[in-house]
Amino acid sequence: MTTNLLDQINARRTFAIISHPDAGKTTMTEKLLLWGRAIQVAGEVRGRKADRHATSDWMSMEQERGISITTSVMQFPYKECMVNLLDTPGHADFSEDTYRTLTAVDSALMVIDGAKGVEERTIKLMEVCRMRDTPIISFVNKLDREIQDPLALLDEIESVLKIRCVPITWPMGMGQDFVGVYHIKQDKLYMYKKGQGSQISEIEVRDGYDHADVRDRLGELVFNEFVESLELAQLAAEDWDEDQFLSGKITPVLFGTALGNFGVDMVLDTLVAHAPKPKDHQAVERIVRADEPEFTGFVFKIQANMDPKHRDRVAFMRICSGRYERGMKMNHVRLGKEVRVSDALMFLAGDRETLEEAYAGDIIGLHNHGTIQIGDSFTSGESLNFTGIPHFAPELFRRVVLKDPMKSKQLQKGLQQLSEEGATQVFMPQINNDLILGAVGVLQFEVVAHRLAEEYKVQCSFEPVSIATVRWVHCDDKVAFEKFKKKAHDQLSVDGGGYLTYLAPSRVNLQLMQERYPEVEFRSIREH
Ligand code: GDP
Repeated sequence: MTTNLLDQINARRTFAIISHPDAGKTTMTEKLLLWGRAIQVAGEVRGRKADRHATSDWMSMEQERGISITTSVMQFPYKECMVNLLDTPGHADFSEDTYRTLTAVDSALMVIDGAKGVEERTIKLMEVCRMRDTPIISFVNKLDREIQDPLALLDEIESVLKIRCVPITWPMGMGQDFVGVYHIKQDKLYMYKKGQGSQISEIEVRDGYDHADVRDRLGELVFNEFVESLELAQLAAEDWDEDQFLSGKITPVLFGTALGNFGVDMVLDTLVAHAPKPKDHQAVERIVRADEPEFTGFVFKIQANMDPKHRDRVAFMRICSGRYERGMKMNHVRLGKEVRVSDALMFLAGDRETLEEAYAGDIIGLHNHGTIQIGDSFTSGESLNFTGIPHFAPELFRRVVLKDPMKSKQLQKGLQQLSEEGATQVFMPQINNDLILGAVGVLQFEVVAHRLAEEYKVQCSFEPVSIATVRWVHCDDKVAFEKFKKKAHDQLSVDGGGYLTYLAPSRVNLQLMQERYPEVEFRSIREH
């Protein structure tokens, strides 16, 4: 293996931001890109976003509702590292998408609104991170406003999110009197200056925190409160322990204001210094190390119409090991087929570019003409199936009613594609020709109806249907499975991926079936 390959892989930092809506994820993303020199002036991302909305029709829904439905990938260099930032939809109805995106990152940045503290979405997302022991860096945002007592915030993070805090910086003042942050280890005070939010500017750094003008500005009382809380924070804080951080047990905490572009570079410094390089991935067959020379990767997301001019679909692949090179041949493991990839995409600050090479940790985009599904593995030859890319059992169901019966072909095709993307799940009962949609959030149905109309020219509506939940069924004992399948025939269906599922009319029914057929596995998550 060349050292170059190792150097490149070790320099990758791939992460996502987790936060509650309005905590400042978009603002933070923009400022991170500013520090990555991916944009020159803050405001470009939003501007570009608005642009895209104006030209893309289904995304207009997103604009109307002021929510972010799409996930995108941004790559930028910072210091000696190449940073990949994966954006996740903020709305709870698209949580499946978010969960799968979190399978493709090595760490996460948790942004917390300092005034509101730990909020509900953050709690959910932290649960997902914990399932994978994802290391978390925490940023308390909006220090230019009145926030909660920083000590109380740390307490809340520790008690609600069950992760211990190690403050890296400590805020001095807040709101109108936000002086800056004291970097504990460096013993330096970084002075905040208003009105510098849209660009990178020189920051005044002072030794220690005790300065006459700072005392004057805050007044003795507030200054002494700062000293006291800093001492308490240091006393209560865990010692830094890299292993504890890497296993998600402790989190470094930084303070600042994304809007004021203050503290953002310290987040990046922490990411570069401590966040893990690309981690190893579990496949059915074996564990794949990131620094193996052979190329491997898996698809965690499929997205349609990123470029409204092309109406194409892009499969997002996380590279797990080795290196992608333009024109290389890949083994599409599920199909057992070799494909030549000459036009993979990479994502520079929201722009798409054709890519010459990429390394483990990077995300690349493959043009998808309907053959790629979420969870698919690609390798440079070996037969490997990566695990852990989940489909969750939906909790909401609707029967699709087609307005024009002549269009049933288009409807089938549209639903098939939308389910491959993970926008919805589709179930085809054995008993009739119904098409049942399943979703995790109710907004997903609206998006599906909208996209069917816009992209496939199919008008349809939805009817309620009495299904409480679904389970993917599996049984090694053939005879027992046949018996079950006969008995459960009317409740069985095939999902969009071709897997057999049991549509349970009620929870009680599901429980009875599970008791009656103990040999049969009823899975609530479908993954390789
Ligand atoms: P998202 O929903 O998490 O993406 O949040 P946004 O980045 O869109 O921010 C939500 C609101 O909070 C917007 O009005 C931002 O301007 C504002 N905001 C974000 N960061 C800060 C900050 O540091 N200070 C203040 N005062 N407002 C902020």
